[in-house]
Amino acid sequence: MEISETINTSKHTKQEAAKILKDKLSETAILILVGPQGGGKTTVAIESLDENTGAIFEGRVRAAQPVIMIRKDAVKKLKSLVVEHRPLPIYGRYRKLVRGIPQTRWACRVCGGKGCEECGFTGKLYPESVEELISGTVIKAFNATGTVFHGAGREDVDALMLGNGRPFVLEVRGAKKRSSIDLSALQQEINAFASYKVEVSNLEYVDHSKVKQIKEMRVDKTYRLTVMLGGDVPEERLKLCSNKLRGVITQQTPTRALHHRADRLRKRSVRPIELESFDENVAVFIVTCESGLYVKELISGDGGRTTPSLSGELGICAKVISIDVINIES
Ligand SMILES: [Zn+2]
Repeated sequence: MEISETINTSKHTKQEAAKILKDKLSETAILILVGPQGGGKTTVAIESLDENTGAIFEGRVRAAQPVIMIRKDAVKKLKSLVVEHRPLPIYGRYRKLVRGIPQTRWACRVCGGKGCEECGFTGKLYPESVEELISGTVIKAFNATGTVFHGAGREDVDALMLGNGRPFVLEVRGAKKRSSIDLSALQQEINAFASYKVEVSNLEYVDHSKVKQIKEMRVDKTYRLTVMLGGDVPEERLKLCSNKLRGVITQQTPTRALHHRADRLRKRSVRPIELESFDENVAVFIVTCESGLYVKELISGDGGRTTPSLSGELGICAKVISIDVINIES
């Protein structure tokens, strides 16, 4: 910061000094009065008070206690700056009705987000995301500068997110319009914009602690898994083998996650597993499991790293070809 000017008022009377400060404050937004303890800084500041003054306060520094005067318009500006910069968290649940949309924006792998021919100069790997489909309308409504999206976990890009939806908190940043935004009207607007792709519900103003809460949420999830089988299996045997998956599953971190997760053993429960349909080599299962279970490996076995697994029980290859999250316990 730069101090634009220093004025010495020690040769002036208190009345003259007050007049000088008054004039200076109309030109400069902030005045800092320094001088010896008991030198009359506060007295002069109070003397110079007029409708142009927004705030006067004494700095609390051990050696010297400067008196600070701030012009009224500057106080207003500072106040709104502080208020605008406080993030405004909104809780909700989202459903994703089409495949191929990531939860949040992914930067283009070629240019890292700067924009290149590969990504059509968008800087993005996917043209849209759940986050962007929601935030565009929100940013407009709050006249905000941006948003930060926090999801309670995330589904695969190719997975649908159905049922009651996945909890999220959208932090609105730099909102100039903060009050009188009716969230049920906003919800309708978001859904109209993101129609047939993403749908939000249960929008609610929350405390910032909600972010941590949804990040740490450990609840059961129900999936619809479409599984490709590597051979012929009679339906009865398929039912028998899938039923053996009920109970505790021992799972070593999946091979596909090893590059970003520590290799460790976890035990998670599979609750009901039902065969929904079966046609030639394609079986569809509805399975509910404990949070933290890698469900693709429950089917494939991941080379023996997940036991039991459908593949292991059947003695043939089994692979998930599509996943939909159909319920997240609330
Ligand atoms: Zn690019």
